[in-house]
Amino acid sequence: MNYPQQSPIDIDSSTIRTSEVWHPSCSYPDARWQERDSPFNAGMVPVPAGSGGHLRIGDGSEPLAVVEFHTHAPSEHLWDGVQGAGELHIVHVDGDRTSVLALRLAIGRRNAAVDRLLERQGALSALLPPGRTACTYLGSRTTPPFGQEVRWFVVDEAVEVTDAQLRALVGEHAENARRVFDLGDRVVDAAALEVDGGP
Ligand SMILES: [Zn+2]
Repeated sequence: MNYPQQSPIDIDSSTIRTSEVWHPSCSYPDARWQERDSPFNAGMVPVPAGSGGHLRIGDGSEPLAVVEFHTHAPSEHLWDGVQGAGELHIVHVDGDRTSVLALRLAIGRRNAAVDRLLERQGALSALLPPGRTACTYLGSRTTPPFGQEVRWFVVDEAVEVTDAQLRALVGEHAENARRVFDLGDRVVDAAALEVDGGP
C-alpha cells in the first residue's frame, strides 16, 4: 500500500502557517561530486560519501547527511498553482529518516554556484538564496518507492539559472516531474532556514 501522504503538492502561500516548531539548519561545505544516474533523474553524490554536508531538522536533532542532489524539469512543487522551470532536490538521510530540501529554479541569470557543481565541485550552500524561508510539510519521495515518509523543506524564493544550466543539470531526464497530490489534512509550516557554509 502506498504511503498516503504523497509529494509533490501545490503550495498555497496564503495558508502557510508561521511556526516556532521547526528550526532547520544546514551545513554544506565545499565538496567533490560524482555523477549518479537512475531511471528517473541524473544526480550527483558527494565523494567521499558524507562529505556533502548535513541538515538538522530541529535544535539538537541528529543530522541527516547529504546523499545526493538531483534536478527535475519542470518543477515538481507548484507555488500558488504555478509550475516553475525546474526544481533541485538535496536529499538527506539518517538511517530510516529522509528529508529533502527543494530549491525552485527559474530561468534567468547565469548561476556561478551551478557552474561549479557542474564541474563536480563546490558547496551546495552557495546555491541558497539569502534570507531563506523554507516551507515544510510531510510527504513522500517523488520517485519509486513512493511509500516512504519524507520531511520536505521547500525554499520560498526561486533561484535563477540559465536554460543551458538547467538542461545540463537534468541531462537526459527532462519532463521528469511527478504530478501534484492533494494536501489533505496536512499543514505547511514556514521556518527560517539557517545555513552554515563551513564544515
Ligand atoms: Zn527529486
